[in-house]
Amino acid sequence: MSTDLRNEDKQHGLPLHTKILIGLLVGILGGLAAHVVATVEAGVPGDANKNGLKDWLDTLIYWVEPVGKIFLRIMFMVVLPMVFSALALAVVEIGDLKKLGRMGLKTLGFTGLLSTAAVLIGVGLVGVLRPGHALEEGQRQKLITQYSGSASEKMNKLKDAKPVRDTIVDLLPENPLQEMVGAVDGSSKGNGMLSVMVFALICGMAITTRPIETQTFVSWLEGLYAISMSVISFAMRLAPYGAGCLVFALTAQLGFDILKTLVWFVLTALLGLGIQLVVVYSIVVFVFARISPWKFFSNVSEAMLVAFGTSSSSATLPTAMKVASEELRLPKRISNFVLTVGATGNQNGTALFEGVVVLFLAQVMGIELTASQQFKVVLMSVLAGIGTAGVPGGSLPLIVAVMNSVGIPGESIGIILGVDRILDMCRTVVNVTGDLAIATCVAKSEPAHETDEDLAT
Ligand code: ASP
Repeated sequence: MSTDLRNEDKQHGLPLHTKILIGLLVGILGGLAAHVVATVEAGVPGDANKNGLKDWLDTLIYWVEPVGKIFLRIMFMVVLPMVFSALALAVVEIGDLKKLGRMGLKTLGFTGLLSTAAVLIGVGLVGVLRPGHALEEGQRQKLITQYSGSASEKMNKLKDAKPVRDTIVDLLPENPLQEMVGAVDGSSKGNGMLSVMVFALICGMAITTRPIETQTFVSWLEGLYAISMSVISFAMRLAPYGAGCLVFALTAQLGFDILKTLVWFVLTALLGLGIQLVVVYSIVVFVFARISPWKFFSNVSEAMLVAFGTSSSSATLPTAMKVASEELRLPKRISNFVLTVGATGNQNGTALFEGVVVLFLAQVMGIELTASQQFKVVLMSVLAGIGTAGVPGGSLPLIVAVMNSVGIPGESIGIILGVDRILDMCRTVVNVTGDLAIATCVAKSEPAHETDEDLAT
């Protein structure tokens, strides 16, 4: 499905990303105009209410907001099936990686290393630059009131800080089904979504020990994953209207201030992605593959451009494979394997972005995360990066899962949705370049004369 995304993008006239940008602009400009009109009208003595423009605008916001919420709900409903199936299947694939021996393990090692570096860079930058604090206190209160029902309920449940000992035990859910419900509505007794993720990992491990008997269940999981992907693609078709309506409602209520805060958020995310792309990947290809970063980037530029245009690692896979064999001159048996696994399993840019969004929204909502909650965000973002589908917006359901687990209301993701597509294009470039960097390092570390059978031992 994902390889057809580019065509699907263009199916009805304008490409999807252009439609989303138009929706975004219309939403922002309409929202700002509404905000200005409402503020001016409220400032006219004795004229602030009663059948005035302000009332009319309030009614408009009242009806526009649900369109955005419907878009969000479509994504929320696949959070659980997607997290569970994606992670269990990832472990099943890793089981296969082990069968591939040294090459599989190296790929896994690089994925863990680069994803952890990415999340730490993102989380560190949000901690230092504090983009969420750019919002004025009055506006913050408005947002807190808007999301307060779900936020305070969840926070109250999370506030009873558990000793580290219990947190570790609770990683293993006593009742996985109860934990799944709790992960969404905040009533979890254990670690919520993190416990669900651990349950999925354990199921995946169990599957690898009985590959024959579990074949049907694996097909079932693949079906569940495919369904989640389709639902996300329905949501993405609604994105131009959904994101536009959410941005309209947000700017109509908060005016220029929220835009200023969003600009800080975008700059922080871009800086993090830039550091991962330019600094981390340069060091990695230089140290592990002994090739000049400049040469590496100029060789992979075609794949980077396709990733930027499609916002999809999966849709970029054929170009990445071509670049790996024709420009980087890597052996096909190695690059095809690493790139295929990496298109969904290695998403460093996405992992970084997930950490940035969650901490940013915590700052915006005035939620102070404890050190252990921040650790949870890092761990979950690394796992979420592995479980994210390589399609446009694939990370959004997983971001909601991480948010829920630390008491940030899932609906508040609407604050950043308007700017998500632009950042999606950029993080996909980082994801795809990361796959190519790992392929280069793994290829250079394998003896040139070995055959496929040698590599499998
Ligand atoms: N669009 C990203 C990719 O395909 C996934 C995401 O971050 O949403 O790599």
